[in-house]
Formats: sequence, C-alpha cells, structure tokens
Amino acid sequence: MTKQIFKHMQILITVALLVAFAAMLGILYSYFGVVQEGQVKAEARLAAQGVEAEGVTYLERLDLDTTRVTLVAANGQVIYDSEADASSLENHISRPEVKEALEDGEGMSTRFSGTLLKAFVYCAERLPDGTVLRIAEPRDTAINIAAGMIPFVLMLLIILMVCMWFAARHVARRITQPLNQLDLDHPMENDEYEEISPLLKRIYVQQKQIADEKGRLVRIERDFTAVTQHMAEGLILLDEEGRVLNMNNKAGKLLNAGDVYIGTDILALERREKFREILAGALNDGEHGETVLPYDRLSYQVDVTPVLDGKKVIGTVVLLFDVTERETAEQMRREFTANVSHELKTPLHTISGCAEMLESGGVKPEDQKKFVHLIYTQVQRMITLVQDILYISHLDEGAVDMSCSRIDMCLIADKVIESLSPEAAKKHVSISLDSDGEVIYYGVPRLTESIIFNLIDNAIKYNKEGGKVHVSIRAGSDTITLQVADNGIGIPQDDQDRIFERFYRVDKSRSREIGGTGLGLAIVKHAAMLQNAQIRLESRLGQGSTFTVIFQEKSPE
Ligand code: ADP
Repeated sequence: MTKQIFKHMQILITVALLVAFAAMLGILYSYFGVVQEGQVKAEARLAAQGVEAEGVTYLERLDLDTTRVTLVAANGQVIYDSEADASSLENHISRPEVKEALEDGEGMSTRFSGTLLKAFVYCAERLPDGTVLRIAEPRDTAINIAAGMIPFVLMLLIILMVCMWFAARHVARRITQPLNQLDLDHPMENDEYEEISPLLKRIYVQQKQIADEKGRLVRIERDFTAVTQHMAEGLILLDEEGRVLNMNNKAGKLLNAGDVYIGTDILALERREKFREILAGALNDGEHGETVLPYDRLSYQVDVTPVLDGKKVIGTVVLLFDVTERETAEQMRREFTANVSHELKTPLHTISGCAEMLESGGVKPEDQKKFVHLIYTQVQRMITLVQDILYISHLDEGAVDMSCSRIDMCLIADKVIESLSPEAAKKHVSISLDSDGEVIYYGVPRLTESIIFNLIDNAIKYNKEGGKVHVSIRAGSDTITLQVADNGIGIPQDDQDRIFERFYRVDKSRSREIGGTGLGLAIVKHAAMLQNAQIRLESRLGQGSTFTVIFQEKSPE
C-alpha cells in the first residue's frame, strides 16, 4: 500500500511540475514579447531620428544583425529595405503597422512571416516627410526561451523531485503506518481513521460470528469426543482416501495406533486381507461391509460403512465391537451339535447292526438274548443321552423351573445313594454319608439334585473295584458345603480344567463303556452357576478325586 501511495504521489508531482513548467514558459513568452516590443519601439525611434538627420544613407551605414529596416513611402512603395531589393518588394500600404503609423504616427504589429517562416515584431514610425520607417525583429520563440531555461529548470526539477520523493515517502508512510498498526484483534478500539470504521465494524461482526461458530464446533467436538472416548466399541472416521480423521481410545488400543494417528492411512494400522477387501468396497463402490477379526484373543466384528454425499463417497465410518461371546456361543453350538450327532450315531449303529443280524436270522438262538440285551443297553444309553441333552438345553435356554424351596440336602443325598446302590454294588464300591443330620438349603430342588446325583454317580463310575465314596454335607455360618470324595482313578492335572466342558472325557472309550454321556459335569457346572455356588476340584491320578460345592445360604423371601 505504501508503494502504491508513493507511486501515485510521484506521478502527481511530476505532472504538477510539468504543468507548472509549461505555465511558466507561457508567462515568460508573453513577458519577453512585451519587453521585445519596447526594444523594437526604441530602436525605431532612434532610427527615425537618424533618417531624419541623414536620410537613407544613415540606414545603409547601420550594422544590422537580425534587425530588418524598411523605409516606406507615404503611398506604400518600399524605398529601402535592409534585406531585400526595394523594387522587388510589393506595396506595403496594407501592412497593419504601416497603416497604423500613417494614421497615428506610430504602429505596432506582431505576425508570422510566410517568406521567412518566423514570427516578427514590427514597429513603424511616421517621419515628418510622410515616409514610414519600419523596424522588424524576429520574435523569440517559446522553444528558444525554454532552451535557454533548460539547465536552470532541470536543476530545479531535480531538486524538487528529490524533495518531493522524500515528502511523498514520508506522507505515504504517515498514511499507512496507522493502518499497519491496526489492532485487528480488537477492531472497535481503533479510532485513527474514521473512514475505515465501517470496515472495522464489519471485521468485528465477522470475528464475533467466527468466534461463536468456533465455540459451537468446539462444544460439538468435546461432546462427540466425550461420548466416543467412553464407548465400549472402537470407532474410526476415515476420509475419502482412507486416512484417519479421528478414532476413539478403544479403536486406538485395538489397532496399536499410538498417539499420532490423524492423517495416517488406515491400512498402515490394519492390513489384514478381509479388512482391505471391505474397505475397498466401501471407498470404491460405496458398499457396506462387515467381517469378524481377532484382536487380543477376542473376536471383534468390524463394520465398514461409507459416508455418501449423493453418490460420491466422502468418508467411511469403521465400527469395531466385541462379539467374542456370540462367537464362542456360536462355536459351542456348532461343537455341541457335532458332538450330539456323533454321540447318537454310535449307539444307533450298534442297534441297527444288531437288529439287522437278528432280522437276517444270522444269530444263533443262544446268542439272540445277548444281542437283544445289547440293543437294550444302547437304547438306555440313548435315552440317558437325550435326557441329558434336553436338560442341558433347558438350562441354556433358562427353561428350567427356578422356583426355590427348602431342600434337605442330606435327604436328597440319601435318596441318590440309594438309587445308585445297584451300580455301586456291582463294583463293590462302598458309599458313606457324613452330615450333621438335617442340612436345609433354600434353593432349586431339581438343580441341587442333579449336582448331587452327577457327582456321586461319577465317584462310583470312575472308581476302582472295591473303592470308597465319601459324601459329606456341612452347614457353615452362611454356606453349605457338599463334598464328594472317592479313591478312584483320579483325573490327570492337564484334564482337570476341561472336564467341565460338554462332551469332554478323559478316556472316551472307557467313559462310553461305562455309560457316560460326557455331560454330567457340564450339568453340575451349569446348575451350580445358576444357584451361585462354587465348585472346587482336587484330584490325583490313581489316588482319587474330591469335588467340593459351596452353596451360599439364602433365606426365603
Ligand atoms: P461322563 O458322563 O463321561 O461321566 P462327565 O461330564 O460326568 O461325563 O465327566 C467328564 C469326565 O471327567 C469323565 O469322562 C471322566 O473322565 C472325568 N471324571 C468325572 N468325575 C470323575 C471322578 N470322580 N474320577 C475320575 N474321573 C472323573
């Protein structure tokens, strides 16, 4: 701006100087004209006196330089001319100065001579004998005057230009300095120039609008961050190129993004094929995509949703949520179904084989009873298996009657021991029950029964010939402890954590042989969990096992 003002001032000053120079030239031109006319007049008078005294001879003696002298008769006939032959000159009666001199005694005229291509100042004097003496001097031209003035004018011009340059610079700075010092952070506090106050007011209003808008955006961002940072799900916002715009803590942790992730290509953080595919689908074709990926030993569903502006993809939202439970349940369901069909297939094959043999008559009559018994045992096994499967499915679905009532644990244990005594007798296993008489637990009878039954049943099944089973039921201050101990085959250390899984058996063939379904301990675990009871296991291979279930005492509501 300073430069602009300075430049314009320079142009203005130069034009002003040129105009002033031209005006001065005009004034000087007319001034010198007047002076010259006076000179010519004086010369004419002097020459007139000389001619009066000596006649034309006077004129012929004169040493003339630029001055032209002409003597004209009263009739206009040229008698003498200092520059031309008098006889060759035309009659001068019509010349204004001659005419005027003849009439008034003296005449003046200034005009351009077509013959000499110059302007001349003419002065004529009438002599006493009626003749007219005329003196002509070439008029100084403006160019001559200007040329004479050039050194002086140039010097003046240079001095003025230098002065003006400094003055212009100073003025330009003085104008712009307050503008440069404007405090635009507080526009309304500037009062240097009244002319710019509408501009300052406008700046103030716009600044206020920007500040309000900024405040609003900051609040939105703060709310957004507060909500997203505490989300259990991972959230990532990407631009149209797949670069990270924002991500919450959870997503940062899952992807190990560190602190500086804004602007990072998401593929630098997550490169797995499945993710790349769905991301490409979202960014290139605007398609929603989802997949399940493992993170930190957990399963996360990754949803990639494009953000569309019309048909154009302007960004992508990536959501990661924990589906480990769902996946585990799904996996369990698949395994459960596979196990069920496998468990049912074995007895069915045996039954079908036996029936086929019997039907074809290929079995000796004395063996027929054996075959029928085999069919019976397999059917019994299937019935037990189906019963266990149905029961555990009911537990899974929460379809078991959960109403609580007073249960005498000792009474139940007694009944179970009695019902299992034939099996125990077969193996010569002795069972003892140790309790303080009646131990009352307020719980779900069916669940409690299945816990006691399965533990005693296993203690008999997985016992040695002539082994012992000891059942103890003790009431504590706010717990009831059921303990089923045997001195049977015991459970290897590595299997102890897994025996509560569905269909898990330490020795599959042996378990099947003795009628195990692989669901007994899974039922115990589920039934204990539903009643908030804890299970502990101590076992040594070859020495026996002790299962302890601790029930929390509950009071009837
Ligand atoms: P099963 O119907 O096969 O008995 P369970 O779920 O009741 O299935 O038991 C799972 C496995 O745990 C059994 O197959 C067996 O190998 C082991 N097991 C359970 N109880 C005992 C025990 N008291 N002594 C030794 N092994 C046991």
